[in-house]
Amino acid sequence: MSSILQEKRNNLFVISGPSGSGKNTVYEGVRARIPEIAQTISATTRAKRDGEIDGVDYYFMSVEEFRRRIDNGEFIEYVNYGHNYYGTLKSEIARLTELGRIIVLIIEVNGALRFKELFPEAQTIFIIPPSAEELRRRIVGRGQNTDAETETRLNIAVKEMANKDKYDHCVINDDLDQCIDEVYNIIKGDDQE
Ligand code: ADP
Ligand code: 5GP
Repeated sequence: MSSILQEKRNNLFVISGPSGSGKNTVYEGVRARIPEIAQTISATTRAKRDGEIDGVDYYFMSVEEFRRRIDNGEFIEYVNYGHNYYGTLKSEIARLTELGRIIVLIIEVNGALRFKELFPEAQTIFIIPPSAEELRRRIVGRGQNTDAETETRLNIAVKEMANKDKYDHCVINDDLDQCIDEVYNIIKGDDQE
């Protein structure tokens, strides 16, 4: 295993922020530079989009199954976001811990803050979009959401932005490469030295 993992102070990170702020794009940029990083695969009840694979992008499941798993205590955290359930399974943290990975959760704000309560050692990172207009452009430009879903996500974003000061780190995603550098430095631990 490379030196980053051995020298790091902790191996648990949460990347959060409004839908469309660039969380997944930034994560992929960081992952290209830190191969031992891995993302938890969340469970969701939302419909699978074109190109998404069950067990890779999400564990897709029915509302009944999701609720059964809630009742079984299988989730570390879960939320209802835009009329669908999303949640992090305890088994995901166990799986990636077993593999010795640096673990990253890419989740919305309520789940992120709940996770931080449960795992105070986790470093939480909030990705800030440069402006509301640019956030709209990115969601629309990504082409994955209906107009109604876009409006819902922008409304949720306003509430999410109000929580940014509760995070350990805030990073503006205007210039992508600069944002990737900043998140890379946080995960590598260089920003604290
Ligand atoms: P999230 O994971 O937060 O929902 P994505 O990573 O899917 O967001 O990014 C939303 C869209 O914005 C994508 O089409 C992505 O290519 C684009 N994007 C991300 N970061 C930037 C940036 N810094 N400048 C311009 N476009 C960006
Ligand atoms: P999407 O439908 O675009 O895949 O995800 C919608 C939102 O749900 C995004 O902000 C995403 O980060 C968040 N999300 C994905 N998985 C989880 C999870 O397990 N828990 C929480 N709290 N949010 C999640």
